[in-house]
Amino acid sequence: MMPSKLLPKITLSPHPSNTSSVQWSDWKWQARNMLTTPQDFEPFINLSSNEQKGFSQAHNLFRVGVTPYYANLMDKHNPWCPIRMQAIPSFHETEIRNEEMTDPLGESLNNPAPSVIHKYPDRALLLLTDRCAIYCRHCNRRRLVGGDTPINKEKLDKAFDYLRKTSTIRDVLISGGDPLLLSTHILGEVLSILRSISHIEIIRIGTRIPVVLPMRIDEALAKELSKHHPLFINTHFNHPKEITKEAKQACETLINHGIPMGNQTVLLRQVNSSVTCMRQLMRDLLKIRVRPYYMFQGDTVTGVDYLRTPVEKAIEIMEGMRGWISGMAIPHLVLDAPGGGGKIPIGPTYIQNIDKTQVHLRNYRQQSIVYPQPIATDCTVPYDDIFFENIKSDDY
Ligand SMILES: *Cc1c(COP(=O)(O)O)cnc(C)c1O
Ligand code: SF4
Repeated sequence: MMPSKLLPKITLSPHPSNTSSVQWSDWKWQARNMLTTPQDFEPFINLSSNEQKGFSQAHNLFRVGVTPYYANLMDKHNPWCPIRMQAIPSFHETEIRNEEMTDPLGESLNNPAPSVIHKYPDRALLLLTDRCAIYCRHCNRRRLVGGDTPINKEKLDKAFDYLRKTSTIRDVLISGGDPLLLSTHILGEVLSILRSISHIEIIRIGTRIPVVLPMRIDEALAKELSKHHPLFINTHFNHPKEITKEAKQACETLINHGIPMGNQTVLLRQVNSSVTCMRQLMRDLLKIRVRPYYMFQGDTVTGVDYLRTPVEKAIEIMEGMRGWISGMAIPHLVLDAPGGGGKIPIGPTYIQNIDKTQVHLRNYRQQSIVYPQPIATDCTVPYDDIFFENIKSDDY
């Protein structure tokens, strides 16, 4: 027999036809075998000429990477597939406009310590890693994610120092990159440190893992996270096609450990930019007990103009949901201000006129309604002075 080192190395595609079910359900195998080149995608889909051009022209603008699990949800023959459009570069990414920014939300202007973004009075973002289990074409942090910089303990210590000394922070959002790509052990350590800071009341994790690498969510992870309550998870489903039995199982595992789950959807042109699609997505999320939280108007990030919708379309979609489907299923529509002003709620206007005696409104069926104002107007709560004795009004 020939020594094996003389044999040509044959790398099998991580397509399910070459893969054992043990490998497929091993999240580390999925993460190691992310698809990055056009050749990698060949067993999964027939690349369109737009997608081929995207690969040859746009690959150096923002890294490509998808788990085999997520690639396996792609429609082999249809380039309009919403999974393909989120994951495969388009040549439109090279059409860069002057208005676009590498840092559309002005995060670098609100960066008081390494890995910390502190923009709002009482909450801060902690960016734990720059790696993801998919590199979404619409990502607004493309300037930061997709490198290969492992978390650096020295920087993290500075981040923790900042969070420790800034006692106005009540709510820490762990994000990235995708924090759930870290080992359960490291996550546990980070959470313990945050929990040792007494002014931090709640912890949130932002992650796309339940959507793109659901096998990562195992009992051990959910159990570790549940030691650090109150802890919330916000995930990022953009299309009903992403709600598979595996994704449902991942969300269930977390929720059954007492972790409330929310969803932050990005409105993406020709991916989910219709009333039909958004109604279905929001209803399907509620069915798996994931509460719609935000729907984002697209950010002005470099090369992503082709995925943005006019603001009117976003408002029309909200109009098509409010009143028509369960109120529990309706997210807040927000536009994150270019330059860093924070999230601004936008949406249909229901108040048509307001004065001291009456409010004129319209309902979701376009019927006019008159609401009589009360006569008394003093709304100070006398008991506040007793109940909130120790809280000064300038205290956040
Ligand atoms: C979105 C965001 C938050 C959290 O905002 P909420 O409206 O509380 O969900 C906090 N910090 C930054 C920088 C953000 O972009
Ligand atoms: S998972 Fe989130 S951070 Fe990562 S590429 Fe997608 S949008 Fe960006």
